[in-house]
Amino acid sequence: MSELSPLLATLVLVVWFFATAAALGSFLNVIVWRMPRGISVGASRSRCPKCENPISFRDNVPIAGWLMLRGRCRNCGEGISLRYPIVEAVVAVALSTLLFLEVIGLGGNLPMQIPGLVHSTNWFSHFPNWTLIGICGYHSMLLYFVLGFALIDYDGYRVPARLWVTGLAAGGAALLSYPSLVVVPVRWGQEQITVTSGTTFVPGAIDALSVAAAGGVLGVCVALLLGLSDSSTVDRKRSCYNVVVLLGAVGAYLGWQAVLSVALLTAAGRLIAVLIPAVRCAPLALIAATATFFGIVLWKPLCSVSGWPGPSSGLMTTIGAVMLVGAVATLAGFIQRSSENATHEPDESPDFEP
Ligand SMILES: [Zn+2]
Repeated sequence: MSELSPLLATLVLVVWFFATAAALGSFLNVIVWRMPRGISVGASRSRCPKCENPISFRDNVPIAGWLMLRGRCRNCGEGISLRYPIVEAVVAVALSTLLFLEVIGLGGNLPMQIPGLVHSTNWFSHFPNWTLIGICGYHSMLLYFVLGFALIDYDGYRVPARLWVTGLAAGGAALLSYPSLVVVPVRWGQEQITVTSGTTFVPGAIDALSVAAAGGVLGVCVALLLGLSDSSTVDRKRSCYNVVVLLGAVGAYLGWQAVLSVALLTAAGRLIAVLIPAVRCAPLALIAATATFFGIVLWKPLCSVSGWPGPSSGLMTTIGAVMLVGAVATLAGFIQRSSENATHEPDESPDFEP
């Protein structure tokens, strides 16, 4: 029995967390639809856009509601976009992955060790470790905002200032009340901090704020590099603004090393996307949101790649990484433009939907 109870506890935690995250995903659909259109988020219950019938509580259950209705309004039969359950599932899976790595996996994805943890034991004997729970919640909050930004960008809107200011304020308040949410210190090139030796780092409020400030500034800079060289959209100003907001938030939450890592992943993602015709026009913000997820999930393994921005990065590594972001993004933009010129010949795209 003593072997079974941690297993049972894990199962209960995962099921509860998955359901909560799916409900948050459902709320994200509401935010993303209403905020850019100037509708109050808490205005009223969700309605069918055709027959305006309020959607009943049981039909509004995340993912399952859509499946049970087979994607049609119960009242008028109007199709409900597949995007709603997809967003709910993506939020549920992404946040559950963070739970697995950061709470159940005792922060195994984090580049530096959390004080007071013995890694040979299971998570249950450490529970509740508030630092790990806090970090998981903090990263979940960032991913939630970032995905919201990307969806608003996908719909062709600018991220409303109210939304990104809320995101930054929530992150700032979390950092000030619990500075240990910061995983990597702001100072660079500290030779004694290596990923493998498991040096611990206990930050104060000033450390946390300087991490956020440096990360925010570098995030905006690399976002401009990425945004200005992007040619996947006709509305480049809007796309660039949204990417600046997105990577600015990533930097402010995670620090300059992490946002540089996410920018490298974004540039690589852009380059891969332009080489695959089906996703050639994937919006940059959506790629950056995906890169944010992988940047957090693969944080530790990426840091152990030689030259990759991390806790022990020096000035030269940093400059090299920024230049690499610019170079890869420029190359992707160049390939994009030349492939566009090639495909713009008449009658060459019969499967393109109008
Ligand atoms: Zn209807």
